[in-house]
Amino acid sequence: MNADIAARHPGLPEGLTQRRPLLWLNPGYDPQADGRDGRLDPAVAEARFDRCAGLLEQVFPELESAGGRLSSPLTPIPRLRDALAPTSPGLWMLKRDDALPVAGSVKARGGFHEILSLAERIGLEAGVLRDDADRRALAEPPARAVLGRHAVAVGSTGNLGLSIGLIGAGLGLRAVVHMSADAKEWKKQRLRARGIAVVEHAGDYAAAVAAGRAIAQADPWMHFVDDEQSESLFLGYAAAARELQAQLGAAGRPVDAEHPLFVYLPCGVGGAPGGILYGLKRLFGAHVHGFFVEPTGSPCMLVQLACGADRPVSVYDVGLDNRTEADGLAVGQASPLVAPLMASLLSGVFTVGEDTFYADAWRLEDREGIYVEPSAATGLRGPLQVLDTPQGQAYLERHGLAAVMGGATHVIWSTGGSLVPEDIRQGFRQRGRRAAEAA
Ligand SMILES: *Cc1c(COP(=O)(O)O)cnc(C)c1O
Repeated sequence: MNADIAARHPGLPEGLTQRRPLLWLNPGYDPQADGRDGRLDPAVAEARFDRCAGLLEQVFPELESAGGRLSSPLTPIPRLRDALAPTSPGLWMLKRDDALPVAGSVKARGGFHEILSLAERIGLEAGVLRDDADRRALAEPPARAVLGRHAVAVGSTGNLGLSIGLIGAGLGLRAVVHMSADAKEWKKQRLRARGIAVVEHAGDYAAAVAAGRAIAQADPWMHFVDDEQSESLFLGYAAAARELQAQLGAAGRPVDAEHPLFVYLPCGVGGAPGGILYGLKRLFGAHVHGFFVEPTGSPCMLVQLACGADRPVSVYDVGLDNRTEADGLAVGQASPLVAPLMASLLSGVFTVGEDTFYADAWRLEDREGIYVEPSAATGLRGPLQVLDTPQGQAYLERHGLAAVMGGATHVIWSTGGSLVPEDIRQGFRQRGRRAAEAA
């Protein structure tokens, strides 16, 4: 490590600035912390999703079979486990947010929640929705006329824009997505094809967010979905915990001292993984162990927490370049809302190199027939990080888990993929296959 950077940030793990893949254990992790004393209550989002199910069912035909519920399957992936770690103890499962309806990524959870909340507020203030009324009123002509006067804007590397754009347009709101000029072209095309305005900005994701925020602030009819600050997004993600709890129950997987739950969550700005872990900690406390995964070039949450700073520290500050093909995770600065909340709840962060997640995405499709986008394949090595590295084993020893790993459930959160066009998938596959064969 550059001696100067090391001296300024003594908490950074060796090898991080050389982009070496590693597992970092969070020294601030407190098994007793469970977020229950927190001000943010996922029940708010759960109740909103409950009362808006009828509305969503009406607006999105693809949600009809699920009764207006946003949910994704939880599936065992034994063949992938056999490919990566044939003798590893415990059950590996994939949480398939790549298959979430409408928006095709984890961003559906946060994005839909924030826009539903906005639409309810606009409807109530305009007098076209009563507090106790069926939310389907928001799809009736009087409410549509009111909603049509409002716009919603967001800064995004792609998936949040898709989520916000699609739910916004579904409810009749005008949607504007601010993207960095180097965001994936197919994501821009897909947005424009759905009638969503795309504005391109020079610089990275944070620059696009800042530009979008400034434009929206000047327009009283425009609501800005702030990926770096939004409590509403966070709560929408947190509501996923209840869904996972029900699915684990249905699958006969208890979560307790003899049956720990390990969750591996891809992290960009931190809202999605942070919200989900926050929700899970409130349900399972010390029995859930949350690890984030970040690309070796963009480990923003690791940097923020390892520097233990009460001021922002970015990956650029420690000499990294924030360059990664995992565009959903290409974020240089962690959310200032989420990072402090993770300081005691997060067990650790591991980083993954580009060839590894490409190869793992290819292996997942080859073995299990499940296609996910590169960002979503980063978590697939989570169980190996915990079981097969000195840091992981130290964690298991420290928390008295080594003897109970046979009863563990490993949930790898897959975060996006079903909307990726076939020609783009082909390119990802070729690169993944080459990387897997070279490994
Ligand atoms: C956004 C995103 C994430 C991470 O969510 P953050 O809230 O940015 O941390 C992970 N995977 C995919 C595919 C995403 O689009």
